[in-house]
Amino acid sequence: MKTPSALEELIAALRCLPGVGPKSAQRMAYHLLQRDREGASVLAGALGRSLAGIRHCERCNNFAEAEVCELCHSPRRDATLLCVVESPGDLLMMEQAQCYRGMYFVLMGALSPLDGVGPRDIHLDRLVKRASDGTVREAILATNFTVEGEATAHYIGELLRQRGLRVTRIARGLPVGGELEHVDSGTLAQAVVERREV
Ligand SMILES: [Zn+2]
Repeated sequence: MKTPSALEELIAALRCLPGVGPKSAQRMAYHLLQRDREGASVLAGALGRSLAGIRHCERCNNFAEAEVCELCHSPRRDATLLCVVESPGDLLMMEQAQCYRGMYFVLMGALSPLDGVGPRDIHLDRLVKRASDGTVREAILATNFTVEGEATAHYIGELLRQRGLRVTRIARGLPVGGELEHVDSGTLAQAVVERREV
């Protein structure tokens, strides 16, 4: 018997999720259609609405529903500090650690020439523009302590120093190869306090 093409399409579509191979895509599709059609419908709706309504904040590049996100609008944040992180999850970690009251820029990735990720892919032109607004004095590089994160921090450091900004890197209380998302907030807070000039 031939598999209906809509089902084939669903299985193929599910493979866009990280770590999902053909077998688990098939399992997910069967589960949704057989056991949880309501869940599937909620998922489809949420996906549709997210795609239609969520964009990148013009200032920090994080996900936002408005042109400029709430954090970037907040008068309580210190606009002279700009913390550069790789992902929205990292920004969340920084916020949960409650160690930082400045602004952010979310790269949505890290430089990785082998995977074809270059400066343009992580929005460095926009970062430079954001950091050169005349208010930002210090850029705090909080990319991961992985090979890609370190290379990215180095590259950005060069770029921003040329523009007369103070550039610091969060301290290595974090493990080598460590990703911000997987560090406890105490360690992260310490790393921000002990950041050093680069
Ligand atoms: Zn923003």
